[in-house]
Amino acid sequence: MIREINLVSGGGKFGGNFVPETLKKPIEDLEILFNKLKKDKNFISERDKYFKNWVGTPTRFIKLENLSKYVGGAQIWSKVVSDANGGAHKIYNATVHCLLAKRAGKKIICGDTGAGYAGKMLSMAAKKFGLKCKIFMGAKDIDRQQPNVKAMKKNGAEVIPVYSGSQTLVDAVSECMRFWVANCDTTAMCVGSTVGPAIFVRICGWSTSQISRELKIQLLDEFGSIPKKLKLYNCVGGGSSSFGFWNEFMDYDKKQCEFIGVEAGGPAKSKKHAAPLTYGSKIGILHGAAQYVNQNSEGQIEETESISAGLDYPGISPLHCFLKDTKRARYTAASDEEALEAFKLVTKFEKLRPSLEPSHAFSVAIKESKKLNKDTIVVVNSCGDAYKDRSILRKRLGKKYVKSN
Ligand SMILES: *Cc1c(COP(=O)(O)O)cnc(C)c1O
Repeated sequence: MIREINLVSGGGKFGGNFVPETLKKPIEDLEILFNKLKKDKNFISERDKYFKNWVGTPTRFIKLENLSKYVGGAQIWSKVVSDANGGAHKIYNATVHCLLAKRAGKKIICGDTGAGYAGKMLSMAAKKFGLKCKIFMGAKDIDRQQPNVKAMKKNGAEVIPVYSGSQTLVDAVSECMRFWVANCDTTAMCVGSTVGPAIFVRICGWSTSQISRELKIQLLDEFGSIPKKLKLYNCVGGGSSSFGFWNEFMDYDKKQCEFIGVEAGGPAKSKKHAAPLTYGSKIGILHGAAQYVNQNSEGQIEETESISAGLDYPGISPLHCFLKDTKRARYTAASDEEALEAFKLVTKFEKLRPSLEPSHAFSVAIKESKKLNKDTIVVVNSCGDAYKDRSILRKRLGKKYVKSN
């Protein structure tokens, strides 16, 4: 990972460790552990074993023939990451954090969650590896995300409501870090995306890179070589699925292999959005790292709005800030309505039910594919399954689009 060096050395203007003094020691311990284990053959084979037998890799790489025919331009393919245990990519990072916690001799793992998916996956992994699990969640989020709260509790996790500030994700992260500082002898911490202090960005990116490792092999299998015109579309919230989807292709020229990140533009009629890269947000500090972040003129973090809970985050991974500034990746946004339209199209033509997050990526991929020809291979990371979105789909599109399983 080229970008990693830049971030960790502090040479870049993004990332870093803007944390209170008391967090320095546990962060340093985790850095030492990770630096050692990521080169350790036993640890890698342990990771691979659980990825294969428990997460369920490799996930499928499929051609969306009917959709491609309908669009009539580029070939549209999908990497079906929602095949993974739990129905989304967050399981990779959660699994690796639990394996690290075991190696460090910790008994408890704590984590933050907004919509509840990071918490749900962490509770699954903690249960699997015999760790006690504490999930910090804003009181407001607990109210509006009851199914995920129930799932976490069913997995044996303790869900701790956070009543400070806006009572949402931002405050949950702060509270989780506070708990970690006071209990780091017994407790490990997991951050749910490629965000937070530098070490958490690295561990998460290292974990989700499984996606592009698989895709590379699958492309070679299918085409005999990496296609001459390849375009990789991914939705971007914190940026962990997209970074993992692209990382193995970082060294290819962007004319051969282009990366397109699709942020959440929010409702068409609203000024609020979750697209700091697309709409030119300024650099600020959020959760211990420098990044582009939605903020007002006084630097206060601004509220976001999006139909997809997974993308509803005011900041963005420092890795993506770097990829934007160096122009290695291109970023754009899709609105709530455009994501819903794309969901309708994909489910009409294919046996694939992308959640609302990847539906944002499908929206842009479909639009751009129309203007290309079939020499171009478009791949969309279908990183989540729509089952979790059933209540919102029922409300917005009607019963016809909801399946019971
Ligand atoms: C959390 C989530 C996202 C957004 O997070 P990234 O770190 O940007 O990947 C996207 N899709 C799904 C299904 C999610 O659960």
